[in-house]
Amino acid sequence: MSISRRDALKFSAITAATVSINAYANPTSTKSKETFNSNTFKAPIPDTKNQRVVVVGGGWSGLTVAKYTKRFAPNSDVILVEQRDHFVSCPISNLWLVDNVELEFLTHDYLQAARENDYIYFQAAATNLDKKNKILKTSNGDISYDYIVFAPGIDYDYSLWTDDLAFERRLRQEYPAGFKPGSEHMTLKNKVKNFKGGNFILTVPKGNYRCLPAPYERACIIADYFKQNRLDAKVILLDENNTITIKEKGFLSVFTELYKGYLEYYPNSKIENINLDEKIVETEFEEFNFEDASFYPQIRGAKILQTVGIAKDTQHNKLEGDIDFFTYEVKGEKDIFISGDARPMGFSKSGNTSHSEGQFVAKILAAKINKQPAPKWESPTTTCFSAVSIKPQRAIYIYTQYAPMKSGRFRFDKTYSDEEWRGKQGAINGDSIFDWATALYTDMFSS
Ligand SMILES: Cc1cc2nc3c(=O)[nH]c(=O)nc-3n(C[C@H](O)[C@H](O)[C@H](O)COP(=O)(O)OP(=O)(O)OC[C@H]3O[C@@H](n4cnc5c(N)ncnc54)[C@H](O)[C@@H]3O)c2cc1C
Repeated sequence: MSISRRDALKFSAITAATVSINAYANPTSTKSKETFNSNTFKAPIPDTKNQRVVVVGGGWSGLTVAKYTKRFAPNSDVILVEQRDHFVSCPISNLWLVDNVELEFLTHDYLQAARENDYIYFQAAATNLDKKNKILKTSNGDISYDYIVFAPGIDYDYSLWTDDLAFERRLRQEYPAGFKPGSEHMTLKNKVKNFKGGNFILTVPKGNYRCLPAPYERACIIADYFKQNRLDAKVILLDENNTITIKEKGFLSVFTELYKGYLEYYPNSKIENINLDEKIVETEFEEFNFEDASFYPQIRGAKILQTVGIAKDTQHNKLEGDIDFFTYEVKGEKDIFISGDARPMGFSKSGNTSHSEGQFVAKILAAKINKQPAPKWESPTTTCFSAVSIKPQRAIYIYTQYAPMKSGRFRFDKTYSDEEWRGKQGAINGDSIFDWATALYTDMFSS
């Protein structure tokens, strides 16, 4: 069966209390079923007799788990624990780098999401887990739970490049990857806008890094900006993989046809050394001088998974969640789940994937709370538009689901891709980026 771009968009859209805490709660206040002791302080959250689901991480997956758990199990008490005080989207941020979209389009309100979907947003960092007593420790107090879902996303892992913390700190601070939202993106935007000319290096790590197409999309957008502004400048894209990891035909043709002289692509470019003082990057076979750069190291599951002992040391120190691939439950534990980019399965680490997966995890939780049979496994859905030029606005597209194989891994299933950017379809895809994002933001932040 092939699924058209329009069907896929529709599918994404369809399937698609607030407490701000600075003071500690009254430590003497207790709740009958909770087992807090004198060493703990209780988060200032009203007691409940209902079953409580705590979701750690208010990104694409956590927001979706929180909303749909409450929707599918209205009698549950749902608490979203997120360290940030507002949401900024990574998807579409490459367009913001060159002012093609306002920051407001990317920025969203956790309080609104919680109000409209009848759960509690609790701003705090999760710091540990008392599994025996079912209590989440946070920077703003302890929260008891019946079920807990970790959806904390990713962290960077610089260990393949260096074990020198001072050097790592320089990379993080002076040349941030820009694959987590916030200051990293602001630094990157300033670098691009202030670039005077020469080589601007971007890198692509090996493996299933966050958002396979995003480094190639970013390279196109920055090259487009250099071209529009007639700068004597080019993007040097150093890819550790042996070719473009997704939408290869589309990106390769864009690189050669649209950005000749503004973008050079080097596959098989394992980085051997980065000299920040002399501004030279060495790969196995070549040396590149640079005027500015953004270095994207390999990624790992967010650190909280390791801290609470639910990360698995898979290949190359990836420390993603140690879960059953079909139930999302942590192996050897009960009532602890992991969703989103922190998962170990080889699904695309994308917002759309994390969102659709969040809906399935919510169904699992609701079935437990409502004492219904567990739902049958559903594949997550990856629907992904990548901009290839700004003026005119054009994009390429892929849709896929996944099917399990005998090996225990997953393969692409029902895949449809649309990588022809030159004609009318490229322009239609260019517009669809905004329709897709609006549909998903609306789903996560509105009722
Ligand atoms: C430049 C760029 C472009 C992209 N483009 C696309 C695209 O076009 N389409 C697409 O589908 N995807 C895209 N993505 C990928 C998408 O952003 C991610 O796949 C998605 O954000 C993953 O969702 P998540 O919920 O797993 O993690 P996140 O969205 O990262 O959310 C994790 C949340 O957990 C919070 N958290 C972490 N630890 C703690 C803790 N200890 N306590 C409390 N909170 C915590 C974090 O603050 C964060 O808010 C892009 C990514 C980038 C960087």
